[in-house]
Amino acid sequence: MSQIPETMQAVVCHGPGDYRLETRPVPRPGPGEVLVQVIAAGICAGDVKCFQGTPMFWGDVNRKAYAETDVIPGHEFVGRVVALGEGAGDLHGLAVGDVAVSEQIVPCGECRFCREGNYWMCQPHDLYGFHRVTQGSWAEYMVYPAKSRNYRLPEGMDPRHGVFVEPLGCSIHAVNRGNIGFNDVVVISGCGALGLGMVAAARMKNPAKLIALDLNPHRLELARRCGADIVMNPAETDVVQAIRDLTGGYGCDVYIEATGAGKSVEQGLLAIRKLGTFVEFSVFKDPVTVDWTIIGDSKELNIHGAHLSPNTYPHAIRMIAEGRLPMEDILTHSLPLSRFHEGIDIAADGRSSLKVILEPGGVA
Ligand SMILES: [Zn+2]
Ligand SMILES: [Zn+2]
Repeated sequence: MSQIPETMQAVVCHGPGDYRLETRPVPRPGPGEVLVQVIAAGICAGDVKCFQGTPMFWGDVNRKAYAETDVIPGHEFVGRVVALGEGAGDLHGLAVGDVAVSEQIVPCGECRFCREGNYWMCQPHDLYGFHRVTQGSWAEYMVYPAKSRNYRLPEGMDPRHGVFVEPLGCSIHAVNRGNIGFNDVVVISGCGALGLGMVAAARMKNPAKLIALDLNPHRLELARRCGADIVMNPAETDVVQAIRDLTGGYGCDVYIEATGAGKSVEQGLLAIRKLGTFVEFSVFKDPVTVDWTIIGDSKELNIHGAHLSPNTYPHAIRMIAEGRLPMEDILTHSLPLSRFHEGIDIAADGRSSLKVILEPGGVA
């Protein structure tokens, strides 16, 4: 522990719009806990929405607040193990010097969902970066708690790329929720960082046709590199008609919605075939209104939600290590911790960025 300093720089959330760079004590790992030096931390659309004060995080008349103040944000990260609390090495299979990621949720292990094996729906729902007991990654150091689910990255994998394991894990789960068959025509709507991960993951299921949609030509080019057979821009093409034309008039088998735009939901309900599967992954700023008759009487659709990334981290690590994603094009912006406000702005704008990361130890 000799070279670990007493204090560190950390971003601290004091409420919507009020995040400050502060000096905090470096946490000391208790029994079963792992202390890591943060190599890279992602800024997610969820972080941006939390910063902006979206009701989903801070509560409104219907909902209880989800985020807490006095918390270091950040649930996407990779770190190098620098100290292990009592028993933590055996518990997590980690040693000092290992590069390791941790699932964004730290399950309680005791609630109904945890006991039934559905840990990603854990009732207390302690996510890194939103709750005080699970301080996040926008700091020089962080703790992976005793109940955290951790994975060591393989030798030879660029440690920075570990920052994309969390988002890619979420992409893989959304793809799994689509129950893709070999003969399916699969449409992924939205080619942001998460959508691109879905394209790469869906490619590995080898459906008959994989179609990616986005308004941005650069993103469509990246979708091709991730494995899309066909890319379409809804601003230029009548995609509903085009999908029907490609499928003998039936429509696509699986539609995965990853844009966060209500229009994409409507488009999906029209583009999908009867008895098809619609996966909803996005978080929407406002409620979306659609014709529910399509879901029921017209098409008898399967509507599947997708939350977090259960049991997907090992596969996400493997996909990145095998070079199945153009990581250097996906990690578009890297900033030191002190420029986190700028990072939030770049991520919020979204036009020029895919994944914005903070590198507390210095930008590579
Ligand atoms: Zn995220
Ligand atoms: Zn639980």
